[in-house]
Amino acid sequence: TLSDRLADTFKNLRGKGRLSEADIDATAREIRIALLEADVALPVVKVFVAAVKDRARSEEVSAALNPAQQVVKIVNDELVTILGGETRRLRFAKNPPTVIMLAGLQGSGKTTLAAKLALWLKEQGNSPLLVAADLQRPNAVGQLQVNGERAGVKVFAPEPGNGVGDPVAVARAGVEEARRTLHDVVIVDTAGRLGVDAEMMQQAADIRDAVSPDEILFVVDAMVGQDAVNTAQAFLDGVGYDGVVLTKLDGDARGGAALSIASITGRPVMFASAGEKLTDFDLFHPDRMASRILDMGDMLTLIEQAKKTFDADQAAKAAAKLTGQGGDFTLDDFLEQMQQIRKLGSLSKIMGMLPGMGQFREQLENFDEREIDRIQAIIQSMTPGERANPKMIDGSRRARISKGSGTQVSDVNQLVDRFFEARKMMMSMAKGGGIPGMPGMPG
Ligand code: GDP
Ligand code: MG
Repeated sequence: TLSDRLADTFKNLRGKGRLSEADIDATAREIRIALLEADVALPVVKVFVAAVKDRARSEEVSAALNPAQQVVKIVNDELVTILGGETRRLRFAKNPPTVIMLAGLQGSGKTTLAAKLALWLKEQGNSPLLVAADLQRPNAVGQLQVNGERAGVKVFAPEPGNGVGDPVAVARAGVEEARRTLHDVVIVDTAGRLGVDAEMMQQAADIRDAVSPDEILFVVDAMVGQDAVNTAQAFLDGVGYDGVVLTKLDGDARGGAALSIASITGRPVMFASAGEKLTDFDLFHPDRMASRILDMGDMLTLIEQAKKTFDADQAAKAAAKLTGQGGDFTLDDFLEQMQQIRKLGSLSKIMGMLPGMGQFREQLENFDEREIDRIQAIIQSMTPGERANPKMIDGSRRARISKGSGTQVSDVNQLVDRFFEARKMMMSMAKGGGIPGMPGMPG
């Protein structure tokens, strides 16, 4: 992956006093290959690498950073710039309702996104109305209705009188309905095709002309790679849009599509969608995506999600443990963390956000959630003393614990081993061993 390549490149740079021309060339070559492997479009790669080389050459060697850190910083800064700099927020209309129109290929995630965005807006105190203007797919309206219901947001659907069979009429009627019923935001879901097609593009353009959107969002599946650029360009020419929404970021895609689209269209990525649940959705943060592309882990997103789920006390306790200020990390903490992780979402997803965890992905995807129940049973069969001081768990204690928890001694052994591994990993992370200083990262 891109991140692995960059990590390797920077490893080679470590320990050198300053950036030589040869260093710069070698680094540029690696970045180029890595970006291509990450499915970034060739013209984008060329521009990007040239910019990084220019800056690496002209920038004074900073006293504060080693050469590797310096290159990481340059690459990071350039990534953030291309991805749009600051997070671009929604523009609301002076006279409500604000009309948001979604466009994109079929399967890109528009309908799901419509409901996610509606829920997100509702939580911010808005009163959105969803409009089902995809009359192409047999159950598109029904799908939006189901999602709208889950989000607790009203859905305007075609029925006799407001344009059965005519998506333009439905969209127009939907906006009128919102104005009449005092909804302050209207989200218009539209139809897509599997490939770009003139008729679909015309329909989207007609809907646009009928409802004069304040924001047109182009929704694109982050997994599609190179093709994303062509699609993004076709929609820019055919419909035009103000911002981009990347979906399916919970998959393997590390951001190649984001970089290509933002660079080629000059439109900012505004939202990121990372899962099938309605709450798997957030503003897009260019700095965090840059970190993710560099495999610094999406630490900030993780921290934010964790904050939502953990209660403040537990979070404070966990933070204290992690930084080694709260005494030793015990088996009780280990169990608590396992349970928190389950609350946060699938293990693989969480771990994917941590720095350097990409390598464990496969292992984690095979992780059986029932495993957590087994871990819980084992730890609960231990005495408080054993949990606080796992080093004392010898052979006879292990036998007793396995009997008490209805597991094999080998299960107990495995758990204890795993605990010590986790503790070791956390100590080194807390000491900052694995995480070099990054702009925009805490600490
Ligand atoms: P549309 O055709 O553009 O309206 O796309 P849909 O909203 O119907 O989504 C197509 C498929 O992708 C559905 O199965 C969704 O559940 C799924 N999907 C949408 N967004 C995401 C996401 O962020 N992550 C994942 N894993 N799946 C998604
Ligand atoms: Mg749809």
